[in-house]
Amino acid sequence: MSDFSLHRGSAPLLVSLPHNGIELPSAIAATLTPAALRVPDTDWHMAHLYGFAVELGASVLVPRWSRYVVDLNRPPDGAALYPGRTETGLCPTETFAGEAIYQAGGAPGVFATAQRRARYWQPYHDALRDELTRLRAQFPRVLLWEGHSIRGRVPRLFAGELPDLNLGSADGLSCDARVQRAIDHALAAQHDYSYVINGRFKGGYITRHYGQPQQGVHALQLELAQRTYMDEDSFAWDGARATRLQGLLRALLQAGLMAVG
Ligand SMILES: [Zn+2]
Repeated sequence: MSDFSLHRGSAPLLVSLPHNGIELPSAIAATLTPAALRVPDTDWHMAHLYGFAVELGASVLVPRWSRYVVDLNRPPDGAALYPGRTETGLCPTETFAGEAIYQAGGAPGVFATAQRRARYWQPYHDALRDELTRLRAQFPRVLLWEGHSIRGRVPRLFAGELPDLNLGSADGLSCDARVQRAIDHALAAQHDYSYVINGRFKGGYITRHYGQPQQGVHALQLELAQRTYMDEDSFAWDGARATRLQGLLRALLQAGLMAVG
């Protein structure tokens, strides 16, 4: 089985879901704590939630491996995304809740981290870059949609409770104003969900690195509070909530497609 699944679509839209992986290579799993083996910090059910995007012609990229193996949405050099704040790194050693991910002595050192970067980080990024290149050969402008989700309350990472939808565009640098406006309007047109634009989550490494509007790649990250489609404690999918949310996600992607078209 491959390190990721890639559905190649026919529209100028790539949906990337880098934290949806839940598998652990057995050699790494053997070094983890029981808490970490539950992979609690997964962006649960993202591929299921965004399954409708294929009907819009989207390409969809989904990794196989958990973010505990290597975090695909962190810079390869391990630099901080939000300097001065608590955050998890390229090879995280603590869960969002602050529990140890590794048994004593199990955390990867410099050499093992470099191995994981080459073995697990690089293939996803090669696939992402190649798919953007393929789409750009067909379309002058493409939308890269980074799909994420997180518990609504994570005291170690942010104060209080997150809005339902947290849209990030690196403070407007990862897409042009027309694309930003189209999504902003689609968010403002609904009244079912709270939202913020470039709040606590402004877009991670993928949004910032690949979002190059002057090169025709317009990137946006949507960080969902998980309560909008699942049970945050049991990790169970909530079909009724998810169906309702999918209506809005569809409207957002359609607005983005119109704006890049
Ligand atoms: Zn995520």
